[in-house]
Amino acid sequence: MVKNNFLLVQIPFILLFYILIWIQPAYAQQTKKKHHPATGKPDTLTAPTFRFHTVIIDAGHGGKDPGAHGSYAKEKNVALAIAKKLRDALKDQIPSLHIVMTRSTDNFVELHRRDEIAAENKGDLFISIHCNSSPQKVSPDHGVLLLVYGYHRKEEQLEAIRENSSVYLEKDYQKKYSGYGANDALNTIILSAFQQKFRKQCIHFADLVNREFKNSDGRNSLGVREQGVLVLQQSAMPAVLVETGYINNPKDEAYLTSPDGQEEIVQSITRAVKKYKKELETQP
Ligand SMILES: [Zn+2]
Repeated sequence: MVKNNFLLVQIPFILLFYILIWIQPAYAQQTKKKHHPATGKPDTLTAPTFRFHTVIIDAGHGGKDPGAHGSYAKEKNVALAIAKKLRDALKDQIPSLHIVMTRSTDNFVELHRRDEIAAENKGDLFISIHCNSSPQKVSPDHGVLLLVYGYHRKEEQLEAIRENSSVYLEKDYQKKYSGYGANDALNTIILSAFQQKFRKQCIHFADLVNREFKNSDGRNSLGVREQGVLVLQQSAMPAVLVETGYINNPKDEAYLTSPDGQEEIVQSITRAVKKYKKELETQP
């Protein structure tokens, strides 16, 4: 009994000890060398010739995972249509860019596989395309929302919980996502430390996209939010999830499925990518 109590008291200290050991080398390395803001690589390797080269476009959901739906549209189809148009617009307007799609057909791609594709192709930016929805049959909310992975409170995670629900369609999801769903505070701390170095870039790119939606297209915006979105959490590069509109709001659904609406969304994201690329490549 005494021994058990002793162990219980010790466990938090042991966990803290391992967290510190895990985090410390990353911080030590960061303070030794100046790192490029976008890549996190030492400046000596990247600057001044850093080229913003590869964009990963991730169409949300797909196959057996339809995502949210409106009165007639399915999120997986809207996301794929916009993602393909975004690929074409970026190729057309920034020919030097290498574009990689995590899916280009109606197939189911596991969330961790999307991040693997991004890492294998050495992406400089990860853009995930989705549609928002509200719990009501017809959403009173409308407009865009930009999600980045970051500090978040559990009660402010509505969109993340909905977007993460894809993992329940995957086998062994608890193994693959470090105990996702287990309310594991330890995982949250470790993964936040890993993601910290990209946090500023994620928020900055999300701001650029948000400004285009609001100022160029006159869209209503719910802003930029930090949430625990799994597909962003495991990404090893700046990553933003674009909720392009509420699929179960009739006006947004019509906009999201119309060629003109999709074109506006695509052109706004493209302008933001151009600005972001220019900024990175002209930084001292
Ligand atoms: Zn989604």
